[in-house]
Amino acid sequence: MARNKPDPSWYAPPRAADPCVLCGREAPNMTDHHLVPKSQGRRQGVKLGEIPTVRMCAACQGYLQKTFSNAELAGELNTVEAMLEREDIQRFVAWVRKQPLTKGVRVH
Ligand SMILES: [Zn+2]
Repeated sequence: MARNKPDPSWYAPPRAADPCVLCGREAPNMTDHHLVPKSQGRRQGVKLGEIPTVRMCAACQGYLQKTFSNAELAGELNTVEAMLEREDIQRFVAWVRKQPLTKGVRVH
């Protein structure tokens, strides 16, 4: 029964309708971003199912993955708050908000 599924109180699973935690857009291509990259989590002995995820659009997630190393993401950037304090991420978010949702955003 669905009611018996484990549901730790510290972690609310993302819902399909949640907007991106960074840019706030409800993009058609949303992903679950692991706050600690899976490879880093394994190294730290964290089970994959225990790594919290946040709802993120593909553009923001692509930007993070291409801009930062897994070690940076697992270390200083493992919370949404920490990401939004970064000036370079703020600049990206401000830019991506102006992009049409239907257009694929190229990050390089
Ligand atoms: Zn986004």
